[in-house]
Amino acid sequence: MKSQENNTYSEVLTYIKNADNFLITTHINPDGDAITSVLLFAVILDHLDKKFRIVINDPVPHKFDFLSYVENIEYFSSKQSYDYNTLVVLDASDLDRIGRLKETIKNPGDIGVINIDHHTSNLYFGTVNLIEPDKSSTVEIVYNIFSDFGIRLTKDTATYIYTGIICDTGRFLFPNTNSNSFQVAAQMIKAGAEPHEIGRNVYYRVSPDSMHLLSKALATLDFHFNDKVSSMYLTLNSYSNNNNKIDTEGFVDYLMTIDRTEVQLFFQEIEKNTFKLSLRSRSYVDVNAVAKKFNGGGHLRASGCHIKGNINDVKKKVLDALKNYI
Ligand code: 5GP
Ligand code: MN
Repeated sequence: MKSQENNTYSEVLTYIKNADNFLITTHINPDGDAITSVLLFAVILDHLDKKFRIVINDPVPHKFDFLSYVENIEYFSSKQSYDYNTLVVLDASDLDRIGRLKETIKNPGDIGVINIDHHTSNLYFGTVNLIEPDKSSTVEIVYNIFSDFGIRLTKDTATYIYTGIICDTGRFLFPNTNSNSFQVAAQMIKAGAEPHEIGRNVYYRVSPDSMHLLSKALATLDFHFNDKVSSMYLTLNSYSNNNNKIDTEGFVDYLMTIDRTEVQLFFQEIEKNTFKLSLRSRSYVDVNAVAKKFNGGGHLRASGCHIKGNINDVKKKVLDALKNYI
């Protein structure tokens, strides 16, 4: 881990101006903030006439297909070669989060890394770092750079920023929602973002398969520690045709609607005996600290990690780890 020091905006701007041949990337299983951050960063580099590619580990979820230039995002392939001088890592707290893109870093000393993020758990792995945990989304930080370069908002770029904000604030309901998120969102609407159209695209195009899967997860609903903790899970058996690529983002939000629970846990088997866990908390449990015990991370009230074992063992391990926090 490098020293936990941020660079200033002006240092980051100078670094970008002096660098060339960029590869822009973000975390595995990209969410709305991740996708819009890479697209907005690409607009900045395009404006500066820089050479760049956007390459990520996993497919862009279908609900983001309305974002312009999303088709320019490439997916990592071990058959391709990736020659770049500067790696831009957005919305990822450590380099393992970028998945197989990490394999493209052959000699770490030979490339520069620009690390821009809003996770408390960020490891400051960049050559330059801009980490702002008080921001509700990474795209708000990228927007500051965009503005500092004097680039004008368009309907497309305002749509990116509005989309990133509503995704990471859970439509302005998560505890990270602050006046800045509303202020920036309002500016985006003035610049042409259409809340109704964006909301319809992102939230009202759930596939029947995904809805069936949600019903299977909800059927496993369980409570622990006097109902202070709720949990549910999906195992590989839950997926018909073994299609475990169905979008499950937002499933954990249903647990968050239950009265009086402090911690919400959603376990999802992503490969045989490996579970992705989403943790959420309402008011006092530091789920980032809990996720860290399993080599994960995230934010104070929303984190994730990956744990090996069968569902019963994994659930037991997590409930044991939670004992001291609840
Ligand atoms: P989600 O549960 O929605 O996938 O993730 C919640 C938060 O935790 C996000 O900010 C995400 O970036 C972070 N997160 C999810 N899984 C992991 C993980 O395995 N490792 C780390 N470091 N962060 C994670
Ligand atoms: Mn984010």
